[in-house]
Amino acid sequence: MSRIYLDNAATTPLAPEVLETMMPYMTRHFGNPSSIYSYGRETRMAIETARKTTARILNTKPAEIFFTSGGTESTNTAIQASVRDLGCTHIITSPIEHHATLHTTEFLAKNNNITLSLVNLGPKGHIDIKHLETLLASAPGKTLVTLMHANNEVGNLLPVKTVGELCEQYNAYFHCDMVQTIGHYPVDLGRLHVHFANASAHKFHGPKGVGMLFIREGLDVKPFVWGGGQERNMRAGTENVYGIVGFARALELAMEHYEQDCAYITGLKKYMMERLNAEMEGIGFNGDAEGSSLYTVLNVAFPLTPKSEMLLMNLDMHQVCVSGGSACSSGAHSQSHVINALGNNAQQPIRFSFSKYNTREEIDMVTAQLKTLF
Ligand code: PLP
Repeated sequence: MSRIYLDNAATTPLAPEVLETMMPYMTRHFGNPSSIYSYGRETRMAIETARKTTARILNTKPAEIFFTSGGTESTNTAIQASVRDLGCTHIITSPIEHHATLHTTEFLAKNNNITLSLVNLGPKGHIDIKHLETLLASAPGKTLVTLMHANNEVGNLLPVKTVGELCEQYNAYFHCDMVQTIGHYPVDLGRLHVHFANASAHKFHGPKGVGMLFIREGLDVKPFVWGGGQERNMRAGTENVYGIVGFARALELAMEHYEQDCAYITGLKKYMMERLNAEMEGIGFNGDAEGSSLYTVLNVAFPLTPKSEMLLMNLDMHQVCVSGGSACSSGAHSQSHVINALGNNAQQPIRFSFSKYNTREEIDMVTAQLKTLF
């Protein structure tokens, strides 16, 4: 049996059209974009075109887009700059953020004397907006709110417009990790009250190791990576030209086909829920699977039994690629901090995450496998 890949929230396969766009920048267009002669001008032009494409799709100014090495670097840049350059002494975040956010904020709390507040979660794991407002209203100092647009493990979506408006009302900065939504939804950064937002190309069929950080115009922030004057002095280091070109092409393709891909993948997720409900006893879904949730992610709670504890390993042995938690714990048997925070530990969580390349036949095969393994 060939492999079935249902871990698209961890990473996605590179789209052939994206590779095709990148190839010339791996071969003949090899110039350093900082060089003044024609080789350099070609690659400089490619980067600026990618920036314009990205800005057009996200409704920002090109000057607000900075290319980075990915979601993690963008998050580090935004959070550290908020403390160092914007004077934030208080950070509000949640216990279900990606480790790029949690570990950065914990480090700052420990070493920079920053007050850290964790917003409560509602019954299905959504951010408790009332509690967020209480925290903002009683904030001890200039505040950064850093909350993800969609949770990568259970898929819950944040009401990003409401959160942005609250931040504006209480004069707080807002960083939104949009790694699971940019490239999967039309995102209009021009109309959202966000100061920082990040994306990562490998989550939407682009290359690994390239992402972007949106920094709202007028914010006076310093780089996270120091050195040369690349990215208008915001991110030093010779640019990942083919990665940046790939980022923009992948985003462009994702948005061109958004409606049909979204409808198709939503159908896959619903189909899997139906099949699992019909075929397996005692299972549940983590997060708000039927409500405000990513159409790409389905996190299934299997009852804890000796067999279910072996499920991840057995699925791997049967060529099914899924995850027990986030990408970093993919395949490994470690407790997920997200499932812990949701308060239901007596289960074996498995995240199935879909892309346009998956089929209903694959879901039938995985359901049949699960029945024999569980
Ligand atoms: N934020 C979220 C929500 C993610 O899912 C990920 C990837 O797993 C990241 C950040 C990190 O992105 P990158 O892999 O580009 O560093």
